[in-house]
Amino acid sequence: MTKASISVLKVLDKLESLYGKQEPNWPVDPYFFLVWWHCGYPASDAACGKGWESLQREIGTDLDSILAAPAPMLAKALLPGGMVPELRAMRLKEIAVRVKNEFGSDLRSGLVGPIAEVRKSLKKFSNIADPGADRILLFADIAPIAAVPSNCPHVLVRIQRGLERENYGVTYREAQQAIEAEIPAVFESRKRAYLLLKRHGQEVCKRKPKCPKCPISSSCAYFAGHHRGRATQA
Ligand code: SF4
Repeated sequence: MTKASISVLKVLDKLESLYGKQEPNWPVDPYFFLVWWHCGYPASDAACGKGWESLQREIGTDLDSILAAPAPMLAKALLPGGMVPELRAMRLKEIAVRVKNEFGSDLRSGLVGPIAEVRKSLKKFSNIADPGADRILLFADIAPIAAVPSNCPHVLVRIQRGLERENYGVTYREAQQAIEAEIPAVFESRKRAYLLLKRHGQEVCKRKPKCPKCPISSSCAYFAGHHRGRATQA
């Protein structure tokens, strides 16, 4: 384990001073999240938001509306969200059928019991891997998991370790461990961490980071001269 250059709490405080308090801009109910997640492709807040708005307007996002809609109409409504609308329409149908048949039309109420089982059940939905399951578990108030934004697990790892790994799973796990070590397992605290890191990863600490504009740069190991794939000193 390399020595952290700045604590996660301090990082979050700095980010909150910059961005202010953050709120989720997606539906936090598990069923509606799954629908929203399939409203855009490639999935992003902007693409999913556009597809979701169109779906709401043209058809509706509730279970009965999706079950009743002909697949071509669903695909047409999903078109503003980006590529492969026909495939996404088919996935929405599959989600709706499964929620109806396996969860009695109420996914949230069915997500109970040991977390490992709940996670397994969520991962049976298309396009849901561990990061998506973590996000659902945290924001639906099912378990205060140390969820990490799936498109920017590198943020904390760069700041504390001065590198990002070539392996996505390793980077995700290291970011998760950093949150677990410092942020109490309380819903609000872990949601705050997720949302602030997500905002920073989207705006400044992107794939190609805008380090000169970053408020964390004076405490960031990556900025201090470490490079991708090279280990920092312990
Ligand atoms: S200084 Fe660069 S690498 Fe470090 S957090 Fe800021 S943008 Fe990311």
